[in-house]
Amino acid sequence: AEAALMKSEKLAAVGRLASSIAHEINNPLESVTNLIYLAQQHATAPEVQSFLNTADQELRRISAIANQTLRFHKQASKPQAISCVELFSTVLSIFEGRLRNSNITVEKRKRALQPIVCFAGDVRQVLTNLVGNAIDAMPTGGRLLIRSRNATDWTTGRKGLVLTVADTGCGMDSSTLEQIFEPFFTTKGIGGTGLGLWVSQEVVARHHGALRVHSSQREANSGTVFALFLPFDVAVH
Ligand code: ADP
Repeated sequence: AEAALMKSEKLAAVGRLASSIAHEINNPLESVTNLIYLAQQHATAPEVQSFLNTADQELRRISAIANQTLRFHKQASKPQAISCVELFSTVLSIFEGRLRNSNITVEKRKRALQPIVCFAGDVRQVLTNLVGNAIDAMPTGGRLLIRSRNATDWTTGRKGLVLTVADTGCGMDSSTLEQIFEPFFTTKGIGGTGLGLWVSQEVVARHHGALRVHSSQREANSGTVFALFLPFDVAVH
């Protein structure tokens, strides 16, 4: 189940990466298409016309590929109501095997009972990334705390849900902390993609939420806390 998870996590990450690249490609693509059109209007040599026609056809192909990638990503999920209870149990069941063979104790505190409307699959993916990272940070064991509560976002005043994932693991130094949301940044060698938190941040932005982190290495096992805020009144698009 874990190997399958790793694979689906990587695939989902690659899918999102592809879609964001496709998105980035669209604008320059359009501008080159326009430039080719202008060049065709001005070119008189038949030879040059034929080069430009070929270039135009190839560009259309790129454009089709980019649009397909974007469409695929958009169709992948629709907003739906999901409860924290459901979120927690699905995510923890994914790590059941790994947790059983570890010295990690799990504490759950569910205070938010109201369901939230979100891209449930994507939010599940974010929690999976956070819990997976927390477990990775505690190779010799520790405590994993997952918590949900209703809260008001202090920067926007919006009401929503805060999901907290805390560990008593290795923590991060300040230079690591600065880079964790960058794509492909990982301290796990070939064991990591460095896409987990980058994708998570994308998902959170799409929900107009926030992902905050507090981590230190001041004391051994002071660990890391990730707090995910998702507003109730989200207009997901
Ligand atoms: P990956 O897990 O594949 O490395 P992520 O984007 O999920 O990719 O994480 C990037 C890096 O952030 C990790 O390699 C690790 O150094 C650091 N990190 C994330 N979560 C934690 C955590 N709970 N404790 C310590 N370090 C963490």
